[in-house]
Amino acid sequence: MDFFTKMNEHEQVIICNDPKTGLKAIIAIHNTTLGPATGGCRMYPYQTFEHALNDALRLSKGMTYKCAAADVDFGGGKTVIIGDPAKDKTPELFRSLGQYIDSLNGRYYTGTDMGTTPEDFVHAMKETNCIVGIPEEYGGSGDSSVPTAQGVVYGLKATNQVLFGSNDIGEKTYAIQGLGKVGFKVAETLLEEGASLYVTDINSDAIQQLLHRAQEIGNNQIKVVQGNDIYGVDADVFVPCALGGIINDDTIDVLKVKAVVGSANNQLLEDHHGDILKQKNIVYAPDYIVNAGGLIQVSDELYGPNKKRVMNKTKAIYNSLIEVYRHSEEKGISTVDAANHFCEERMEARKHRNSFFSHHKRPKWEIRH
Ligand code: NAD
Repeated sequence: MDFFTKMNEHEQVIICNDPKTGLKAIIAIHNTTLGPATGGCRMYPYQTFEHALNDALRLSKGMTYKCAAADVDFGGGKTVIIGDPAKDKTPELFRSLGQYIDSLNGRYYTGTDMGTTPEDFVHAMKETNCIVGIPEEYGGSGDSSVPTAQGVVYGLKATNQVLFGSNDIGEKTYAIQGLGKVGFKVAETLLEEGASLYVTDINSDAIQQLLHRAQEIGNNQIKVVQGNDIYGVDADVFVPCALGGIINDDTIDVLKVKAVVGSANNQLLEDHHGDILKQKNIVYAPDYIVNAGGLIQVSDELYGPNKKRVMNKTKAIYNSLIEVYRHSEEKGISTVDAANHFCEERMEARKHRNSFFSHHKRPKWEIRH
């Protein structure tokens, strides 16, 4: 396919090639209507340039919607580095990336994603101010899984409000897949509120830690299940906090829950699985709305780190979801379509205020440095 046809509505694609450091990267800027683009930097040994480009285009578009939903005054962008994170990382490579990002004059901000760490960006930030999600000891906001988990809890409250007429999260049963940085914190909060849990993780240490924590909290209503058994348990809400693509033809058939609300990215294997969930009367909380807490934190970092402010902003996930559920019900469309409309309306409403070229200047809120 012709390159420009593939770019479609993307504003800009920058191909970075620095033989001195070995950097081969693609920066995709999808849409800057709401503000300069932002989106993490993924490092992966892509087999071909085509695979890397497709990933950059797809992920940057997703960021436009995620930013609009979270109302963070950023647009969508993404960087992919073609390389093996286990072998190809050097400080020079990340400094080189930092120089490319700096050349965009504030049109794009980046940070970590799959295959990169905050420490990698300590090197990049020597070359540019346009880095977010940096470690606390360098003036950043630290672990973003804290607000992400908090956002999932707000998502559960909003969903319970719509399903059961009360936003109380105790006294219900949840099936949690993945007890990592996000899932563990969600599980802890639910146990503290008196909920019952089914949990699964491929890492037995994570399960042991949660069982131990449950004892400390004094709530032992936990059942551990293995692998795919998590999909068929008799719970009220399925909380996916591990893999993408887990809502598909096979799993939808066995789900007994009334809702799916979790942090995992790209939970639906395909968008039409959102329609199937609706047909089965299973409420689906669009993942990019529920898991926006981390994005809210890293974009807020430019004002200087402030955990309380981030937690207050993360509360907005509750109202956004209620709005999406209402729109889905009124129009008879899936919550995925309702969420996309919600974001597109927000961009349409602001497009006259923000123009494509207004972001070549540093954004006014960049006061960190
Ligand atoms: P993590 O790597 O800390 O935790 C993932 C957990 O899932 C691990 O404990 C792992 O052992 C477990 N797991 C992996 N495969 C599994 C399987 N087949 N069955 C059961 N458990 C399995 O990741 P995280 O930061 O907690 O993120 C969880 C999800 O949320 C990911 O999809 C991530 O992309 C998404 N997310 C995270 C953040 C954040 O701030 N951390 C923000 C947005 C989205």
